[in-house]
Amino acid sequence: TAVAKRAGIGFIGKNGLVISKEYGSYMYLGELITNLEIEPDQEVDYGCGDCRRCLDACPTSCLIGDGTMNARRCLSFQTQDKGMMDMEFRKKIKTVIYGCDICQISCPYNRGIDNPLASEIDPELAMPELLPFLELTNKSFKEKFGLIAGSWRGKNILQRNAIIALANLHDRNAIVKLMEIVDKNNNPIHTATAIWALGEIVKKPDEAMLDYMRNLSPKDEDAQAEWELVCAKWQI
Ligand code: SF4
Ligand code: SF4
Repeated sequence: TAVAKRAGIGFIGKNGLVISKEYGSYMYLGELITNLEIEPDQEVDYGCGDCRRCLDACPTSCLIGDGTMNARRCLSFQTQDKGMMDMEFRKKIKTVIYGCDICQISCPYNRGIDNPLASEIDPELAMPELLPFLELTNKSFKEKFGLIAGSWRGKNILQRNAIIALANLHDRNAIVKLMEIVDKNNNPIHTATAIWALGEIVKKPDEAMLDYMRNLSPKDEDAQAEWELVCAKWQI
């Protein structure tokens, strides 16, 4: 971004992105290394001014205000990081299973910008149905989603996020699938997240559900911790 700024492509906004009047921040930066003598371009003479919309809109207040950020608190990072997602961020991702564009969407420089190169993704890939998404094998994930940028981190992290999204939707249709994930216990992070999700979705557990939860005996540390929280919530 610093090179793009010096090359006159745009300024670096308070959201840390390179922004131009023509494309907003919806652009891909590329570079060419050459030994040609090229006359340098002028830096642009506009910027954020007094605007602070992205700072106010950021759900985790992780933008510092000078173009830098507390990256570990950024939801884009959180949706790509391995392991259990911290409780604080689970609610904040809502139903977005990869990335976060709020600081771009809120930027006035992006208003009315329609860059087809930056926005052309099949809605079925950009917003997949969450329950079928949990059924994907490594092979089917690669076949269907392999070419989009969000797939680089692999299927398991996105499926963990899909479980969180189902919890945030309070989607009761997900209950059977979540129990299956817990019972199969193929992936400790999915198991622990699914136990938490059951606790979020089922507000008034019936006897069968109480029995189901009571009889779980998670071996993994994360699953054990989530199980204890749900048991406390359901007063088991
Ligand atoms: S991507 Fe989202 S969480 Fe990250 S800085 Fe922007 S608004 Fe905040
Ligand atoms: S939203 Fe406002 S403060 Fe943030 S990058 Fe855009 S112009 Fe700058």
